Amino acid sequence: MSNATFYSTWVEVDLEAIRNNVQWFQNFSGVAVMAVVKANAYGHGMIPAAKAALQAGASWCGVARIEEALELRAASLDCPILVMGYTPPDRVDEAVAQQISMTVWDPRQLELAAGAAKKAQMPARLHLKVDTGMSRLGVQPEGTLDFVRKLAKTPGVIFEGLFTHFARADETDPTPTDAQAEHFRAVLIQLEQARLRPPVVHAANSAASLTRPSAHFDLMRVGIAMYGLYPSDECSLPGAVRAALTWKAVLSQVKVLPAGRGVSYGHIYTTRSQEQIATLPVGYADGFRRTLGNQVLVAGKRVPVIGRVCMDQIMIQLDEVPGARAGDEVVLIGQQGEARLTAEDVAKIWGTINYEVTCAISARVPRVYLHEKVGHPPR
Ligand SMILES: *Cc1c(COP(=O)(O)O)cnc(C)c1O
Repeated sequence: MSNATFYSTWVEVDLEAIRNNVQWFQNFSGVAVMAVVKANAYGHGMIPAAKAALQAGASWCGVARIEEALELRAASLDCPILVMGYTPPDRVDEAVAQQISMTVWDPRQLELAAGAAKKAQMPARLHLKVDTGMSRLGVQPEGTLDFVRKLAKTPGVIFEGLFTHFARADETDPTPTDAQAEHFRAVLIQLEQARLRPPVVHAANSAASLTRPSAHFDLMRVGIAMYGLYPSDECSLPGAVRAALTWKAVLSQVKVLPAGRGVSYGHIYTTRSQEQIATLPVGYADGFRRTLGNQVLVAGKRVPVIGRVCMDQIMIQLDEVPGARAGDEVVLIGQQGEARLTAEDVAKIWGTINYEVTCAISARVPRVYLHEKVGHPPR
């Protein structure tokens, strides 16, 4: 039995690559790593990716939502976890009971946290988000000291962290990130002078972790780079950091059609001559986008997807690969022989970024884990 005889389409995740990448960041800076595993670990599978990162020395897990944090706890991961986004009021009790750290920016969140702490007889762990220029979440720098004073007086809460997020750390021009870092540092100095600096100060995403050691502070929040994916075209990765994900499928049918045959819904492709056409059991419901111009790798060659992408299937033109047979393995993202089709390449075809490409690979695509290390991460 092999993956190619057991699945139609599947994702292989090399957990050794994730461990290698986390270790690379750890060695590079010596600062603690938060493994950002939101959105099913950018499509890689949250629990195995989180375990691999912790095995490699990551000390925190970062998620966007309380549901994700609870899933990590349910898998017995007892590392510190930060919900970096919004926690709905009725979920604050669960967060406190499970010792999940929450992000705050609104005084009303302090009351909720205090109430939950009292009920649970356990502290609420809070990270204050400062909006230094992303304009997404956070208190404004000018209001931070006042907020922290309020926080420090709130019973039952621990002021565990202070953080911000960069909007343009993946660009070559350092100016906008310099400005944000400057605002953040000014806030930090104010807190230090008031003896209100929390233990965990953090700012850097993958791009800033790579390019801006001055923004490492106490913790680097490494997301995209932990999976071996580039933060952007302008911010590539060192050669030692490698992609963990390969998306595969098998040829379900290979056939020769005469000239003039329409292919797939709407017949937007018509065979010009006798052509070898194959079908793949993957479609837009798997996260393979319904755009024109898609490509896949067959027998180490890039070949075109033709006609419309269906919900569960696509057709490809195989004149360049006369020997292809039903059951052959096809690569949608990854490497096959000498040929490569990276998440970055696919993103270019789709007019988006690699983040969206791997996040979009849907839940029905089975994830197969390579080099899984059993046992709990050391704590
Ligand atoms: C998603 C996210 C990250 C990780 O960003 P990458 O670019 O993937 O490294 C870090 N911090 C916050 C607040 C995030 O939302």
